[in-house]
Amino acid sequence: MTLPRPVYYFSNRMGRIILLAMEEILGQGEANDVIHHAGLPQYVNQYRICDQDLKFPFEHLSRLQAGLVDVYGPRAGRGLALRVGRASLKYVLQDFGRDLGLTEPAFRFLPFPARLQSGIETLAGLFNRFTDQRVSLEMDGKQIRWQVERCPLCWERKTDDPCCSLAVGLLQETLFWVSGGRYFLIEERNCIACGDSQCTIIIDRIPLS
Ligand SMILES: [Zn+2]
Repeated sequence: MTLPRPVYYFSNRMGRIILLAMEEILGQGEANDVIHHAGLPQYVNQYRICDQDLKFPFEHLSRLQAGLVDVYGPRAGRGLALRVGRASLKYVLQDFGRDLGLTEPAFRFLPFPARLQSGIETLAGLFNRFTDQRVSLEMDGKQIRWQVERCPLCWERKTDDPCCSLAVGLLQETLFWVSGGRYFLIEERNCIACGDSQCTIIIDRIPLS
């Protein structure tokens, strides 16, 4: 007897953020092509549901990521996923920025190292609170390790290289924003789709520029 597969979800509101960012980067027509390719026609022009119900399955998020690679090829598909991740931050701030305190002066006037740490912790908390994705952080003076033990982006995918580019893009943009326009080295080192036990993204605390 096989046990039923666990089903995990994003909130509708969090899923909608990804779809809005995808539409922004690809344009509506091409975003709809990817949505069709992923076999999810229910989302074509129908993703305005903005509640906190946990009803947006991990599997749908991962099919959208795979759809980008299928439609545009591995290299361009991952580049686009990265850009979708970067574009997502604006919608995260619109929807959650105030609740999370990210747009409050108390946050904005923190000294930079504290702002970086607080921004990343707040983002991890957003996933832990509004989705079934679980993020844990490990930090030392040089790096932050963003660790995801169940990841919607690579859910049930198998790839040769780490494939959660959307998360890398979201972290890039978050750091760009909290630092007032600086770039950081951010790299996905481990990925469940490659057989690792968790997805791990390494963030260098020292900016590149
Ligand atoms: Zn992943």
